[in-house]
Amino acid sequence: MKYTCWGAARQVTGSMHLLELDSGYKILIDCGIDYEDKDNHEINSKFEFDPSQIDVVLLTHAHIDHSGNIPNLVKQGFSGEIICTEPTAYLLEKLWTDSVNIQNNNRNKRKIPQLYGFKEVKDASEQLLTVKYYQKIELTSLLSFTMHEAGHIIGAASIRLEIRENNTVKVMGFTGDLGNPGSKLIVDPVPMEGLHYLVTETTYGNRYHQEKRSPEEVLMDYVTKTCINQDGRLIIPAFSVGRTQAILFTLKKLFNEGKLPPIRVFADSPLALASSNIHNRFSDYLNEEAQQNKQTDSNLFDFKSLFLVEDKSDVADMEMYRDSCIIVSSAGMLEGGRIQHHISDHVQNPSCTILIAGFCSPGTLGAQLLEGRSTIRIKGKDRYVFATIKQTDVFSAHPDTQGLQDYFEKSNQTKLSKLFFVHGEGASMEDLKHHLEEELREKVIIPERGEVFEL
Ligand SMILES: [Zn+2]
Repeated sequence: MKYTCWGAARQVTGSMHLLELDSGYKILIDCGIDYEDKDNHEINSKFEFDPSQIDVVLLTHAHIDHSGNIPNLVKQGFSGEIICTEPTAYLLEKLWTDSVNIQNNNRNKRKIPQLYGFKEVKDASEQLLTVKYYQKIELTSLLSFTMHEAGHIIGAASIRLEIRENNTVKVMGFTGDLGNPGSKLIVDPVPMEGLHYLVTETTYGNRYHQEKRSPEEVLMDYVTKTCINQDGRLIIPAFSVGRTQAILFTLKKLFNEGKLPPIRVFADSPLALASSNIHNRFSDYLNEEAQQNKQTDSNLFDFKSLFLVEDKSDVADMEMYRDSCIIVSSAGMLEGGRIQHHISDHVQNPSCTILIAGFCSPGTLGAQLLEGRSTIRIKGKDRYVFATIKQTDVFSAHPDTQGLQDYFEKSNQTKLSKLFFVHGEGASMEDLKHHLEEELREKVIIPERGEVFEL
């Protein structure tokens, strides 16, 4: 069989892996949008293979950098099944629709061609087929797969394939994005057994998580300093899927246990609200703490002082609010979304703290704030930065260097033949490789985009 990495090669977005079996059967694992080179539109609009020749798409999780180009694949002739877990399928409907809206916006503002529209989203949705974790699916008499819990976000899967070729069985695993063990709400990643080949994400190949405190301790600290001691507002930029829910779930616990007074919390992101509903609906996919909470409370994210910002009148109510409060809004890196209003309105407010709850790619507005700039340009205006800027990695959705090494060790029980590094920056992959024991280091391959491997 042949393996080709068509995306997330030496970079973190655009995941797309093609597996061509000797029998001619073709499997695409993930089909994401590439965000790295914003001027190269062809990287997303064109495929380097014929979409109509792909037999099946196996999807690890709903994030757009893994799933976002599927409607375009369908537009260009892919007519097979798109297989994923049930929470992923529900999230996709929301994220693909959101992606069309963003593309419409960009097309109007920056004349960027649109990849697909609502029709293709509908067509792609009709090709979705959901499976359960650890359910063995026979795709052909020579090929089967199972989905393993990957952590990361609700419904995320690592995919383990068994391929019969030349009288042997080859076992190949794709991690998708892995979660950070011990995460709020999310289960720990479960390594796949008996692997010969592993294609793994390496997002934090050279980074160690710094925060030693629990999510509760971190939020207690910032809420107390900002909202109680300074009577100010705490603004937390957060991704709509996963991060927002982890923060609301933690705040709910602090309020319900009486550790914080009932400070008003605004959850300002329509996509996050839809995502919260999917977390409630599929709570059996979440970790034990979440499932226990669900037994006594039908809504994991609701509490008395929570105000959901759903329509224009809610926005007006929120803007009138002058007391100290907490605002959780998307997007995480501060690029676009409703968070921009909050930052624009309050970055000059010295009693405001902006708590960046995750990693920000270089060049993003979030990264500019973290660099300590004295002014930023937002919504067409220059603003002084008088707010306090803080960062925490306690809600990180990826394992750090140590977490990745532990995962590889567990995946190497039956001695891997090859370990492919994808979904990471080139330099960080090299660092990670040099951290590994010699026996494993020798197996590492860092593919270029389009490089073909005969396995
Ligand atoms: Zn992801």
